Amino acid sequence: MEILDTLYNEIIGFLGISQAWDILKSGDYIAFRTYDGIIALIYPIIPLLLLLELMLGLIYKKPHAKVYKVNFLIYLFNRIVGRFISIAMVALIIGFFQKYAPFQTDLTWYWLIYGYIVWEFGHFIYHFLAHKVRLFWCLHSTHHAPENMNLSVTHAHFFLEAPYADTIRTTICIVMGVQPELLFLIMFIDGTYGAFIHVGENLMKKGKLGFLHNIILTPSHHRVHHARNPLYMDTNYCNLLNIWDKVFNTYQSEQDNIEIEYGITREMDSGNFFDVYFGEIAVLAKDVFAAPGLKNKFLYLFMPPGWSHTGEHKTAKIAREEYLNTIATRE
Ligand SMILES: [Zn+2]
Ligand SMILES: [Zn+2]
Repeated sequence: MEILDTLYNEIIGFLGISQAWDILKSGDYIAFRTYDGIIALIYPIIPLLLLLELMLGLIYKKPHAKVYKVNFLIYLFNRIVGRFISIAMVALIIGFFQKYAPFQTDLTWYWLIYGYIVWEFGHFIYHFLAHKVRLFWCLHSTHHAPENMNLSVTHAHFFLEAPYADTIRTTICIVMGVQPELLFLIMFIDGTYGAFIHVGENLMKKGKLGFLHNIILTPSHHRVHHARNPLYMDTNYCNLLNIWDKVFNTYQSEQDNIEIEYGITREMDSGNFFDVYFGEIAVLAKDVFAAPGLKNKFLYLFMPPGWSHTGEHKTAKIAREEYLNTIATRE
């Protein structure tokens, strides 16, 4: 019965209900009012919403079967290989960089705001590079492959992406004096909100969250980020506070007359685990192999996706500029 036990633990683990379940079993309901108790209640929200979304998809007959299937495989694959590398990485960085911070924050609400702004900056840097450096795009493209949006997309990541993202984000936070406890709190909020912004149209039609749309990053903004329409590509890199998108001019709101087309521009089979996971690496390897000279081979690795040694670039930036130019000449 070991397999059944493992399966049971995996399901409880995925749903994130083990802590809340322990509190319920102990009968010590007051524990829900403590910090750990609140966290225990927040953890299961996203997995439970994911199940609800899946059921609504079946009811509305918009089940996104392909997306769920591949993202489930990715979840399993990452569960086996990826998870622990990232945790080890964060511990290593804290140990190495904390002594270089000019000051240390406390666990207060104003330092939380400071820490969050610093974290978002780290997130912006990681995410921007993930889109603009072809080698990093190979890792990040797995997340952009799905051609529908739903909460399972949260799990669509190449297993090396979390260690790479956390290296950048954690280093910036630790050097800027964000103390580890505060950092973990921010990671938890960011992880939960970062999952929520993948809520699909089956659960939230518009995803603009009313007036909040003008203040923070909403599911609608993140849908724009996942779009391959020329106007939308490579915009909205932030997660919750989108100040850095506004500072660096990468902010784009959803336009009523431009329907979002999810996915990446390369022709691919988004229902194929191997294409979703390794497809961009294969295409990059082909380009590097075919490129004349060492310098060009090197440039393919580090220039933005769409860059070509022939000079006929097809980058997101060029596509967006061309689109904006045609709009300007039409008016
Ligand atoms: Zn992205
Ligand atoms: Zn996303």
